[in-house]
Amino acid sequence: MRSLPQQVISPAAVQPETEKHDLLLCRDCGKLQAIAPISAKQELRCSQCNSVLHRGVGEWLQVACALAITAAVLFVCSVSLPFITLEVGPQSQTATILDGFWALMERQQWVLAGLVITTVFVFPLFEIFAFLYLLIPYSFNRHLPQQHLILRWLRQVQSWSMLEVFMLSVLVASVKLADMAVLRMEIGFYMFTALVMVLILAWIKMDRSKLWTWIQPHNYFIAHDGEQVYDCRVCHAMVGESLIDRHNACPRCLSVLHKRIPKSLEKSTAFLIAAVLLYIPSNVLPIMTYATLGDVATDTILSGVIELVAAGLWGIALVVFTASIVVPIAKILILAYLILSVKVGMKRGIKHRAWLYRFIEFVGRWSMVDVYVVTMLVALVQFGFVYTVEPEGAIIAFGVVVVLTMIAAESFDPRLLWDALDESSSE
Ligand SMILES: [Zn+2]
Ligand SMILES: [Zn+2]
Repeated sequence: MRSLPQQVISPAAVQPETEKHDLLLCRDCGKLQAIAPISAKQELRCSQCNSVLHRGVGEWLQVACALAITAAVLFVCSVSLPFITLEVGPQSQTATILDGFWALMERQQWVLAGLVITTVFVFPLFEIFAFLYLLIPYSFNRHLPQQHLILRWLRQVQSWSMLEVFMLSVLVASVKLADMAVLRMEIGFYMFTALVMVLILAWIKMDRSKLWTWIQPHNYFIAHDGEQVYDCRVCHAMVGESLIDRHNACPRCLSVLHKRIPKSLEKSTAFLIAAVLLYIPSNVLPIMTYATLGDVATDTILSGVIELVAAGLWGIALVVFTASIVVPIAKILILAYLILSVKVGMKRGIKHRAWLYRFIEFVGRWSMVDVYVVTMLVALVQFGFVYTVEPEGAIIAFGVVVVLTMIAAESFDPRLLWDALDESSSE
């Protein structure tokens, strides 16, 4: 059962024009442009803002199917098999990936546990399911129910599935532990490493625009000739202004569609302010407590970095410093600057600001490293009297800061940057 646009918009109102496939609307700046046919491996860039409009992926379907099946097998193995073993003297502790989650649940750290389970288990699992549900039927040209919904959610889940960030945190945690104990990577760890790589490859290989065309071939919907079209952020269909005014939904993927995200600046500002307010305690207060032979000490985000430097682990200190301190601050400052620049209608340096937006969208999730490091340490370092690690309030605050800045960035509509140009040209 496919959902056709006619279910939302009466057929008479819509003129889907498949022959207009050679038109594409830039996701970043909203400029409509004719596109030239490209070869399988070329990429096409926007003439106004230079962001990637379309990227050919070559022969992709069989490879993407194989990667999706491999990812499913690796996922099952890496969550069920032992992941890492820590030995302190005669005692040893083996943990699976999900033990961090269970350890947080036992301590009633619901927010942190929820954050960890969704970003390293639920979303990645959905990602793999979606790959299989879309790619395998596609290769047999068999339509299954709700595929448009799954493909839509896949796009929305993408930045919240954080296996590669978790991978980095395992590295950081193992370096932190190296001088106090013997650390042994188990089979689950190697499966997990392979899974991270396979999933990245699957994303690179999958051609979402081909899948959308397969689910619903029309990508251009207008009610009358010559009207302004807007692009759907999810499926990249182009929809006429009058249709959006009437229905607020994309005729192709049925997601909510607006010419500009409503109250984008207000929402973005509100999330940003909340993030700034929480950022202060998350840096001042301790993120974890560790007890060694009755001695109790606490770590803040910054003291964790300083300890790494003191131990001569410059490389890993730099990684943690960048992910936990530089990235959140840069993100907050850049977003504030972008919001302000739209408010005052700044016309200079739009390309530069559009690049900044793409940059913060890309780097934001890497700040989760410290949250996962604490989770790993809590799960692993439980040797009763000898050595234990417990999470503290600031790590929850910090996790929430990362989430808030990500939502703030998602609420910001980058097309607003380019609207200043239209205003000046229409004056
Ligand atoms: Zn553009
Ligand atoms: Zn759509």
